[in-house]
Amino acid sequence: MANAELGTVVVVGASLAGARAVQALRREGFTGRLVVVGAEPHWPPYDRPPLSKQVLTGDWEPEQARLRGLDAFDAELVLGRRAVSLDLDGGSVVLDDGTAVPFDGLVVATGASPRVLPGVSPSLGGVHLLRTFDDAVALRRDLSVPGRRVAVVGAGFIGSEVASSCRALGLDVTLIEALDLPLQRILGAGMGQVAADLHRAHGVTLRLAVGVRQLVGDDRVESIVLSDGSTLTADVVVVGIGVVPVTDWLEGSGLVIDDGVVCDEACVAAGSEGRVVAAGDVARWHNPLFDVSMRVEHWTNASEQAAHAAKALVHGAEVAGPFAPVPYFWSDQHGTKFQFVGTSAATDDVVVVEGSIDEGKFVAGYGRDGIVVGALCVNWPARMNPWRKAIESRDPFT
Ligand code: FAD
Ligand code: NAP
Repeated sequence: MANAELGTVVVVGASLAGARAVQALRREGFTGRLVVVGAEPHWPPYDRPPLSKQVLTGDWEPEQARLRGLDAFDAELVLGRRAVSLDLDGGSVVLDDGTAVPFDGLVVATGASPRVLPGVSPSLGGVHLLRTFDDAVALRRDLSVPGRRVAVVGAGFIGSEVASSCRALGLDVTLIEALDLPLQRILGAGMGQVAADLHRAHGVTLRLAVGVRQLVGDDRVESIVLSDGSTLTADVVVVGIGVVPVTDWLEGSGLVIDDGVVCDEACVAAGSEGRVVAAGDVARWHNPLFDVSMRVEHWTNASEQAAHAAKALVHGAEVAGPFAPVPYFWSDQHGTKFQFVGTSAATDDVVVVEGSIDEGKFVAGYGRDGIVVGALCVNWPARMNPWRKAIESRDPFT
């Protein structure tokens, strides 16, 4: 039975978490007015994972990245409009055209936005971020000129996948990373070395443990000066140096903001008395499975957390119970599939427990205090679920 006081629900953020929340609200029996506010003009929303992979390589037309099955949810769409503030006491969201949209329940699904390189003019030609459909289309166009030399700043997910896609296009690519190894903060040093070897084997030039001092060029970028004083010629620069959760519009609203919207175990926003839930890249909640506060910036979490948050809004936190997933992500690079379940920290013990790195098919287990907390499956999808179960049941790490 849905909460009868929930006349109108507003979902802010019309991407993956927002769309999954809309689906789940209806599935949970919410029959009231449903308003979706999205800063981007797209509906159905598109999926971001193909943007750095199939869309960039040209294997897919951009339109193929659309999420499917989202037409029949009887929702009012307010697209191309940003929410600029939240009046929690009055129960309304204020948009950038001054309109106040009243709500009884609110889903915050505003995701994250990319960090920009300090000191670089946003109008300098040839410099790209990659977050949106429009970013991907613009980057793809810029890469289509034969002979382009590409520099990618940041060897996290965006940087690693863009470097891989550029090599698939036959372009000259240099990947610049401030840390010693690609994906180091996510996978640790041992598996970061595996990622580095893979890039090198596919012709990516790595410049590691070095930052960017300056981009040089008048209208369009021509070169990059690195922090060690060296200079690199580049026609296209892609910046992938992380994201920040989009919470600016919630400042001063009474919600608790601390690197994301702080929620309880059921994804109900602290300070909202059950009227606001959050999901996806923007949400920070306490995951009881690991007994830590986390914010996850991956696809599966956005999808699953939105469903859980919608349930908590419709039926209450007690009925929804705690959201206690084993986090998961995948990343495709140079024809290799990385899949990671669980969590990782720099101090974890990391051991190849199945297969072998040399054969390009293996599982690395991550142990902490004698317990299995994570597993990286490389080109071995069938091993994912057993490892997920081992993490869930807190098996000993031997
Ligand atoms: P977002 O997708 O960021 O959506 C938030 C939406 O809210 C946006 O449309 C934004 O415009 C809108 N918005 C923001 N502020 C406002 C406002 N004030 N008012 C109205 N609307 C607002 N994850 C994986 O697990 N595997 C992958 O292979 C993978 N590949 C990726 C590739 C790329 C290029 C990118 C960018 C991400 C990738 N991810 C991947 C991560 C995954 O896509 C994200 O975790 C997911 O998109 C998060 O969904 P979200 O709905 O929480 O946030
Ligand atoms: P990211 O994965 O957080 O990686 C950013 C990388 O850039 C980090 O290694 C970071 O190092 C480094 N960096 C930061 N500042 C730098 C600088 N000035 N110069 C050089 N390197 C610098 O973020 P992202 O790659 O930008 O990805 C953006 C978002 O999209 C993330 O939420 C990510 O999860 C998501 N995404 C996910 C996937 C996937 O799951 N397959 C694919 C694409 C995108 P420090 O850690 O030291 O700051």
